[in-house]
Amino acid sequence: MTTLEDLVNPGIRSLTPYEPGKPIEELAREQGFAPEEICKLASNENPLGPSPLALQAIREALPHIHLYPDGAGHLLREAIASHHGLAAENVVLGNGSNEIIELLFHVFVLPGIHEVLCSRHAFAVYRLMAQLFDAPCLETPDPEFRHDLSVLRKSIGAQTRLIFLTSPNNPTGCRIPNRELEEFVRAIPPHTVVALDEAYVDFLDDPPPSISWVREGRNIVLLRTFSKMEGLAGLRIGYALAPAPLASWLQRARQPFNTNSLAQAAAIAALKDHAHREQTRRIIREGRIRLEDAFTAEGLTYVPSAANFVMVRVGDGDRLFQSLLRRGWIVRPLRSYGLPEWVRVSIGTPEQMTRFLEVFPAALRESATTPASATG
Ligand SMILES: *Cc1c(COP(=O)(O)O)cnc(C)c1O
Repeated sequence: MTTLEDLVNPGIRSLTPYEPGKPIEELAREQGFAPEEICKLASNENPLGPSPLALQAIREALPHIHLYPDGAGHLLREAIASHHGLAAENVVLGNGSNEIIELLFHVFVLPGIHEVLCSRHAFAVYRLMAQLFDAPCLETPDPEFRHDLSVLRKSIGAQTRLIFLTSPNNPTGCRIPNRELEEFVRAIPPHTVVALDEAYVDFLDDPPPSISWVREGRNIVLLRTFSKMEGLAGLRIGYALAPAPLASWLQRARQPFNTNSLAQAAAIAALKDHAHREQTRRIIREGRIRLEDAFTAEGLTYVPSAANFVMVRVGDGDRLFQSLLRRGWIVRPLRSYGLPEWVRVSIGTPEQMTRFLEVFPAALRESATTPASATG
């Protein structure tokens, strides 16, 4: 007899769904906290909140939400283009940059035929999307959690269509050195497209000249987002920067109204908010030093981070996650990345960091002694 499961596409049947950071409301329900008592350092969100200019733009756009958004996102694409010194034809908007990842598969990957390539411990969504599209995802080893670009290059096969590079990478926090990246990009074979995920590029003091690679017309797509630096994760707005011909194929694959009008208005305003970006950069830099110093003081190994989070080896990541939850703190355990001894901690405001570093030692000691089964 045919079961419902038999009808389901193989890519869906075998899929391990993405594990997002635990929502504040869920923990509040489970542990009886008031939502205000909970602090989430689990999804690399901006601890300062959204850009105030973006909030104002949303208020002004609200009375018009009975109208469909500008499907082409004309104003926002113009604003992004002029921000980067490119043309609007180089910009593709996405419902978060995660949607762009999906568009790349729609455009370039034939299920069951093509392959994609990424580094081990790279952002999980590439692998997930590959599963959905029933395309093998080859993962190259990452010594000391760094992308090994020479091995990646040697692993490119005749059926490799997409290569995902992530710098800085999530969850490791490692960046790719600019020179190595440049060499790799100059040697992209014509049958592949490189997706360079730059969700955290704004946190780098010396970002790579990736915009110039778009201008040069290489087979490259830069993935950018308003979710991290600009603090608009809840609005779902990101974009691709690519040479015009490549960008136009991505445009063809998207839904007519894939980004909403509030997100478009907010993103335009956020681009102008240099003060918010500067302040964010400063508190992230300071918080990262404090967090890394505290890990050192506890004798823990961490991966030096170029982004707004730090990955640290704590012994049993799930147990530490649980003992922090009981104290109202949400961090990210990394078992789903094959790193059960590690957690990832997003950098919060100075006050949040002070309070976190007060509870962290006790939670760490508790996690070293409590059996995981007793923690619920
Ligand atoms: C957070 C993140 C994104 C951003 O995703 P959005 O869909 O734009 O919110 C993309 N790539 C990486 C590696 C990330 O960590």
